[in-house]
Amino acid sequence: MTKRLFWEDMYVREFDAKVGAVDGRRVTLDQTAFNPRGGGLVSDTGTLGGQKVSEVVKEGEEIFHVFGEPPSFGVGASVHGVLDWDRRFRIMRMHTSAHILSAVVNRETGALITGNQISPDESRVDFNLDDFDRGKMSYYIDMVNEAVRRELDVKTFFMKREEALANPGFVKLANAMPPSLEMLRIVEIGDVDTQADGGVHVRNTREIGKVVGLKTENKGKSNRRLYFTVE
Ligand SMILES: [Zn+2]
Repeated sequence: MTKRLFWEDMYVREFDAKVGAVDGRRVTLDQTAFNPRGGGLVSDTGTLGGQKVSEVVKEGEEIFHVFGEPPSFGVGASVHGVLDWDRRFRIMRMHTSAHILSAVVNRETGALITGNQISPDESRVDFNLDDFDRGKMSYYIDMVNEAVRRELDVKTFFMKREEALANPGFVKLANAMPPSLEMLRIVEIGDVDTQADGGVHVRNTREIGKVVGLKTENKGKSNRRLYFTVE
């Protein structure tokens, strides 16, 4: 199992690690600060041993760093990893914004999230809602920015699985967690949102800046999609 440095500190930009396995263009490490694709988040990119990491994926509890061509280093090598921090920091800002947006829409309408895609430039969240016009989008986005301006601390901690699942508010993304995990990671954004989540977030909502609603789309009956970005 790859040690996830981003679970201890989501602001680690550079790190040292030992190569665990090399499988063609894919490499595992004993520890990594690269957040893999998953939970709707695109993966981090950057360099390992000076070579470009184009994507990072997880299989079970193992994290694979994918290169354009087989790396020049082998098993047991010590490598230095550097994240593309501009990209990662935008993903963190987008992701925390998406949690706040989901909490706001859920509070106002009872709707649940049916999907999301968090990317550095533009993100989207899908809700099981019948009705979602432009006026409502602005209203929800205003409320998201109100929460952002309150400079809420974002806390992460681990909780026993059964304890977390006993709280209905925590379970929205619990299915995304491997069922074998006894402890679930919980992300708490002030008094706005608390849920089981493995992704990367900012440590205070002041780092988000401003959330901007871009457009809404109808994706079939009772499925509304909202696009947003951060400035
Ligand atoms: Zn999340």
